[in-house]
Amino acid sequence: MRRYDLHCHSTYSDGLLSPSAVVERAAARGVDVLALTDHDELSGIAEAQAAARGTSLTLVPAAEVSVTWEDHTIHVVALRIDPGNTLLADGLEQIRAGRDARARRIAQALEAVGIRGAFQGALRYVTSERLISRTHFARFLVEEGIASDVKDVFKRYLSPGKPGYVAHAWAQMGDALSWIRAAGGQPVLAHPGRYKLTQTALKRLIAEFHMHGGIGIEVLSSAHTAAQVAEFAGVARAFGLRASCGSDYHGPGESRLDLGDLPPLPAGLTPIWDDW
Ligand code: AMP
Ligand code: MN
Ligand code: MN
Ligand code: MN
Repeated sequence: MRRYDLHCHSTYSDGLLSPSAVVERAAARGVDVLALTDHDELSGIAEAQAAARGTSLTLVPAAEVSVTWEDHTIHVVALRIDPGNTLLADGLEQIRAGRDARARRIAQALEAVGIRGAFQGALRYVTSERLISRTHFARFLVEEGIASDVKDVFKRYLSPGKPGYVAHAWAQMGDALSWIRAAGGQPVLAHPGRYKLTQTALKRLIAEFHMHGGIGIEVLSSAHTAAQVAEFAGVARAFGLRASCGSDYHGPGESRLDLGDLPPLPAGLTPIWDDW
């Protein structure tokens, strides 16, 4: 059986490894099909594709798109997109454009609780001048000894309701999905277990996602417990969504699952790759 990992990050967003290092690591770990899904960014795909040439690994051009739905931040993995599509590239550029001002607001919010120099500090962890993320702040706060690891920073400072969290408007669901579909991509709802949604809100989200052309849902993800895997397998069956799987790997020491560390999909699901 082929081994799929359809969610991971490189230095073109908030990962720690370059696209070629990600591809080499995935190939060495037995991954057959890998999607590089940098946040709101396509620039790493060319390097990943070049690294995959001459190996047995198939690289799927992809991205993870930040969306605001109601008052929640939702991530949509866009698989098999055409990286040359200008509608998608322009849309992602719009999303990224808001990140600098947001980072300054995060730094101000942290300053208000006595953490100084976070903007400059986060910048030292930024690996692409095109994109600053909360993860870069998290790495700085760990360096400062304010928290023990990145997860701890999110729990105490960077999640909704915590002192360093600032609200932000990402793309609208309809816009994001229209860009993805224009680029020939398959929209997949990323790590649904991460969102703090009631059952009725989850149903509304999936209905809207489906209405705009969303076709898949991540069932296997490092963000999911065993109970959530079962829950979202049920959701996939009930709503006729195809199932996807991804480690959401960000780099050595930061991720619960390494590249390709995924069990087979639960029975009775149609994999997103069924017609690839
Ligand atoms: P941003 O797009 O700047 O809001 O950053 C989102 C990123 O922060 C995610 O892609 C994860 O890499 C990271 N993140 C969010 N929540 C957590 C968490 N609870 N623990 C560890 N990393 C997280
Ligand atoms: Mn990330
Ligand atoms: Mn995500
Ligand atoms: Mn991700």
